[in-house]
Amino acid sequence: MRWQGQSLDADDGALPGLSRADFVRTVRTPEFDGITFHEVLCKSALNEVPENSKLPFRWTVNPIRGCSHACRYCFARPTHEYLELDAGADFDSQLVVKTNVAAVLRRELRRKSWRREPVALGTNTDPYQRAEGRYRLMPGIIRALAASGTPFSVLTKGTLLRRDLPLLASAAGEVPVRLAVSLSMLDPELHRGLEPGTPAPKARLELIAALADAGFAVHVMVAPVIPYLTDGSEQLDALFAALAGAGAESATAVPMHLRGSTKGWFLGWLAEHHPALLRRYRQLYGRGAQVSPEYASWLRARVDPLRERHGLVRDSAVSAPAPRPEPGPAPQLALFG
Ligand code: SF4
Repeated sequence: MRWQGQSLDADDGALPGLSRADFVRTVRTPEFDGITFHEVLCKSALNEVPENSKLPFRWTVNPIRGCSHACRYCFARPTHEYLELDAGADFDSQLVVKTNVAAVLRRELRRKSWRREPVALGTNTDPYQRAEGRYRLMPGIIRALAASGTPFSVLTKGTLLRRDLPLLASAAGEVPVRLAVSLSMLDPELHRGLEPGTPAPKARLELIAALADAGFAVHVMVAPVIPYLTDGSEQLDALFAALAGAGAESATAVPMHLRGSTKGWFLGWLAEHHPALLRRYRQLYGRGAQVSPEYASWLRARVDPLRERHGLVRDSAVSAPAPRPEPGPAPQLALFG
């Protein structure tokens, strides 16, 4: 199925809200060269995470499917295949936008059955990718969550978050708000190759500083760490030093996993740009999506002292105290968004 001019009737499985959505229109605009927006009206906004998922949060909101940040390693790529779009270039450029997500969320949060459990944003695709500048979905989502007394977290690589900083600070006076930034490399060339649509590392360091200045305890996901490309001792030391210098409160490192069609998309890039590493990658990921246990232990042993040295071991990334009783534990951020 191609999307242009068609109605949305795909069963996406991964995002139940979208499987019950109405297609509105397809949009292309000169400000977003190469991007196609598929605007839909969703019938639900809150996605319940299956209990057996092992994720540390039970509810998510995903306003946009696909992500123009275009990270080669993005674990969300295979979800595009449920829409009969491909997990490579289509994931980067064919974006499904739930234009009514805030209104639907408000309605769902008013239900008597809603227990104000924490809601995570940025766990599937990035809510502050460039499209958010056009659609401005996040302000309505933030207002809805805060007004309903629902704690929430945002994980992003998008410096567009700065636009909503006053609103987020105000929300943090109502409910616990956790903000996390994803940054795992400083090298400009690797950044261009691996995360071509994301703001530059320097801009993300400035974002961390702006969030810290606004009073947020910023958590940084050093994720994913790319084996043999971003895991050098000096590279990680410089990165953790930069994070601490920017005012981050804590940081967690996560090695890259390569699930489903993401593996082929990433390895295609690796073959072109770092062919000498292919054999080592086949050994490392030969048994599946995760790095070998030996590599995971090795990375932990390398990273833990750096987190200690740079004072990034605290994990108290909860924002300003909230006047309402907290209805549950704040979510831990576990993905690399
Ligand atoms: S890893 Fe995050 S920022 Fe990168 S493409 Fe995927 S969702 Fe977007």
